[in-house]
This record gives sequence, C-alpha cells and structure tokens, in this order.
Amino acid sequence: MPLNYKNYYDVLGVPKTAAEKDIKSAYRRLARQWHPDANPDNQRAAEEKFKDIQEAYEVLGDAEKRRKYDALGTGDWQRAAQQAEQQRRYRTQGQAGAPGPQSFDFGGAASGFSDFFDAFFSGVGGKRHAQEHAQAGRGQDLETTVDVSLAEAHEGGKKSVSIQVEDLCARCKGTGLERGRICPVCHGTGRTLATKRFDVTIPRGVRAGQRIRLSGQGGSHTDGSRGDLYLIVNLVGDERFQRKGDDIYVDAQVSIYDLVLGGEVTVPTMSGEVTMTIPPGTQNQRLLRLSGKGMPRAQGSGNGDQYVRLIGMLPQNLNDREYSLFRELASLRKGGAR
Ligand SMILES: [Zn+2]
Repeated sequence: MPLNYKNYYDVLGVPKTAAEKDIKSAYRRLARQWHPDANPDNQRAAEEKFKDIQEAYEVLGDAEKRRKYDALGTGDWQRAAQQAEQQRRYRTQGQAGAPGPQSFDFGGAASGFSDFFDAFFSGVGGKRHAQEHAQAGRGQDLETTVDVSLAEAHEGGKKSVSIQVEDLCARCKGTGLERGRICPVCHGTGRTLATKRFDVTIPRGVRAGQRIRLSGQGGSHTDGSRGDLYLIVNLVGDERFQRKGDDIYVDAQVSIYDLVLGGEVTVPTMSGEVTMTIPPGTQNQRLLRLSGKGMPRAQGSGNGDQYVRLIGMLPQNLNDREYSLFRELASLRKGGAR
C-alpha cells in the first residue's frame, strides 16, 4: 500500500500560517468534540477522527516536527514516499534480493498513528513525544536470520555475514531536514539503508533458533542511540548428517554379506572419515555408536555421539550359481538350522 500524505492542517481546520496558540485551541476544541465518550452513537468513527486529531497535533503542536512537516509539503513527495515505503518494507518484510530468508521485526515500534507519521515523525524531537512513548528514547531492536551450516555449528568461530541495516542519515544527522529543506539523501525519513558486513562469532554447537546478539547494531534513533541486532540461527540441513540434540545420525549402506559375516564400513563424521568394524551376525538397521563424534554439547563440555545406521543392501542381478546357492541356504534354514 503506498504511503499517503496526511494534511494535518485540514484535520485541525487551521491555515498553514496559524499561530501556535491557534493550533492548540483548535486541537482542544476538536478533541472535546470528537472524544469517543462524547459520541456514543458513532463511537467507531469518532475514535478514528479522535486519533487523527491527536496525530495532527502531535506534529503541528511541536515546533521541530511542524518545521519538518512544512518542508515535506514543499519537497519532492514522490521520492519521500518511495524512500519511506522502502524502509517500511525493510522493517516488516526484510530486504529483497538478500541471500537467505531475512525478515525483520521491530519490537514495539508502532506509534499507534499512521504509517506517514511513523515514517517521518517517530523518534523525532519533541519532549512530549518522548514522554508519551518511552521506547522512543532508544533505537529499536532488530531481528534477522543467519544461515549456519552443520559444519559451522560444529566448529564454531567467525562467519562473515552481509546484512542490510538501517542507519541514521549521515547528511542530516537523522533530522530529515537540511537548512530548512527536506534532506536530499533520506528524503525526510532521517534514515538510510545500507548493506554492512559483520564478523559474527558462531558459538560451538549452536542450535537452531538460538539468538546471537550484535550489540548496538539495531535500529537508530535521532538522538544517535541504537538498538541491538539479533541474529536467529537457521541451521541449514545436511544431506548426510541428521542432528538430534547433541547427537548426529548417519545412514550407511552395507552388503548383507558384511552384516552376516562381519566386515568394515567407512562413514563420514563431522571431523573426517572413520572406518568401523561390523561384527558378524549384525541385524539390518542396527545402530553403531561412535562415541564423542557428535556436536559440541550445548551444556557442559565434550561432544555428543554419532550413530551409524547400517542399511543392508541385497545383491542385484544374481547369476545362476548365486541363485542356486541362495536356494541351498534357504533349504538348509528350512531343514532346522537356526
Ligand atoms: Zn537525511
């Protein structure tokens, strides 16, 4: 949905040249008139109207916001709306074209007012605003996901991650204004989007859904403070390894001869290949344990185990001689041998 420009002067029914005290008295009169309690017959509509009036006064009743609003009205509204829309998408849906599923969640960001207000006036100046919305005094916390492979989770260590982050506009220092005009860089939003690289420390044995905090890399506030950026670990599936807690499961195909007569099987582990002995008379689907070859334990020290499931494979395309030997084996078995 495109961002709509709001005409706050119309909402309060005052001219653009109105003095501060006229704006204040217009607000008081309208607020009394449209208070939901005073309109029991059309409470819904009154609520909407009442909120509009509050929003308009929040901006026009604050010298700094009003200056910015006036500049916005004479600036390039198309560009400003575009920029604001881009940033809104960033906050609600994540960035387009980024590797991996990225979504952002701004905790408690909404002012309760319109998107227009949120885009240009939340976190801007005004003591009254800061008191009413205690959260406004700090940049917002951001969340996004980071893809981690099983090998990276096993080893831990640094990983370079590219993430789009919202920054305070360097040109206007987040005010959205430059010498009384709308800032040409951020188009009045006070913020810009930029892709940044982070060296993220992946903890050894990290689990899916675990949060890694990048302190002070979250959303920015006009006073320069920043929230935190949280990376939520998305463990990328591995074809060979299945993780259950701290343990790893692997399937290994072996011949039925190795199961019956005993033999060896070489299997991958998180730290290279390992050759295991198959004891004679091993049942199909049996699990063999490789002690300490699993993931680093989330709690305590050491590693979990790796379990190898032996999958017995029947021989294909038997020749006549093999068939007759199998028949002989079968008849021996029928004859009472166990
Ligand atoms: Zn700017």
